[in-house]
Amino acid sequence: MKIRSLLSVLVLPVVGLAAEPQDLVRFGETYRNHLVAMDTKPLTDVFAKHEETSLWQTEFWGKYMHSAVPLLKRFPNAELERHVRESAKAVMDAQLADGYIGNYRAANRAQGGWDVWGIKYTLMGLLYYHDLTHEERPLACAKRLADWLIGEVGPGGKRRIVKTGCYAGMASCSVLEPIVWLHRVTGEKRYLDFAAEIVREVGYDADGPRLVTQALQGVPVAKRGPWTGKWWSDCATNMMKAYEMMSCYQGMLEYCEVLEKTGAQADEVAKLRRAATMMAEDVLAHEINVIGGGGSVEFWFSGASKETKPHAHESETCVTITWMRLCEKLYRLTKDEKWLAAFRRSFFNVYLGAISPDAARFASYPSLNGKRTFFRSHCNMATDCCNQNGMRGFVSALDLGVIAGKTPDEVRAVVDPRGDWKTVRKDGHVAFLCGELVMSFVGEDSALPLELDHFDVKKENGRLVPFAAVGGRLYRTWMEVVCHPWD
Ligand SMILES: [Zn+2]
Repeated sequence: MKIRSLLSVLVLPVVGLAAEPQDLVRFGETYRNHLVAMDTKPLTDVFAKHEETSLWQTEFWGKYMHSAVPLLKRFPNAELERHVRESAKAVMDAQLADGYIGNYRAANRAQGGWDVWGIKYTLMGLLYYHDLTHEERPLACAKRLADWLIGEVGPGGKRRIVKTGCYAGMASCSVLEPIVWLHRVTGEKRYLDFAAEIVREVGYDADGPRLVTQALQGVPVAKRGPWTGKWWSDCATNMMKAYEMMSCYQGMLEYCEVLEKTGAQADEVAKLRRAATMMAEDVLAHEINVIGGGGSVEFWFSGASKETKPHAHESETCVTITWMRLCEKLYRLTKDEKWLAAFRRSFFNVYLGAISPDAARFASYPSLNGKRTFFRSHCNMATDCCNQNGMRGFVSALDLGVIAGKTPDEVRAVVDPRGDWKTVRKDGHVAFLCGELVMSFVGEDSALPLELDHFDVKKENGRLVPFAAVGGRLYRTWMEVVCHPWD
């Protein structure tokens, strides 16, 4: 990968160059062209067959619901509602007599591969649909599916959940989050018991990823397990997979909120929160790059100190969105502004930069060298993980008040109360300067803009420093950029 060298930093006044913020946020067109236009039938057709042994086709519908329902509630749309209702009915109709909803062969269920991970998203989808409609059926379906899962991998089940699925059990154990949601909705103890078992296995068990133990010992996320050099294919032992790891900590924080309400296990709550916070602080300090992305080939790799070099498959959009959700949760819990700043840095840069020019897709790897790639298909389907997760970043941004509007087309960035808001436009490209950093560039070719040498002048202690950290230049500096075509 060639990194072109650069030009000098231009210092231009922004006066007279202001752009409309919605040009940058692009929510309305993404809502229409990506979310409302999505054909959900392929996402649910997969539940009708039971031949799979290793892949993850069943995650896509739940990811869709993870943003479709919150956005439908906020911005009613008849076509979107029809898709949500029809797709939910198809999934509920696909439930087997024993409660299972998925596409794995009977002999392979809740074992290797991504079956439990898919069930996680199916549970989320059903609970979102219950939340939207208040109908009994989706809740009953979710309970039967969870009960089936408990029989397989719950307390007293056939096998331990941490020994199933990919990445040292982290993919399967991330089902923790919707299991906690299910307990919250039903109040039933067996779901809380299942959640406690998952936390024990993924957090402490000697042969699991030890997410609590390792975090509290200060083990960096990039050093969590043996490095075998096999990346994706090292499914059994690799403990550095960013998306799955953060998803487990997210579930732990949900679990803590439930425990806290009961007043039980205050020491455990404090310990889990400390572990999640220490992990996130490590990610923020050592993994998140200057545009708010992280990871190479979807794994933590101490990437922040290596951001001036190109890396394979940088900054997976699933990682970005999961990171943004974790920042949102930590900000709500702690009111520590650093999490909101981290959220804004990712949202206004790498996240918005992942949206395709026609606002119909999300790229999978919007990398720092300006090249963006997206999967054309996953599991022989016409979508992929990042594309299906895509809209969820907007949900968090709306919930946090980072963007706001009464209709999709009115949604725009909210001016930071600290007054750090400017936009500039130059040669068809828009630079967005906000908060502690920030720059998201969208133009007609809508590519990420970075020329890495550009940052050398701001390198300190081996790290690239966000503009705000160099003090006083933020509003007076505009960077010359070269945009790469969408590819
Ligand atoms: Zn992805």
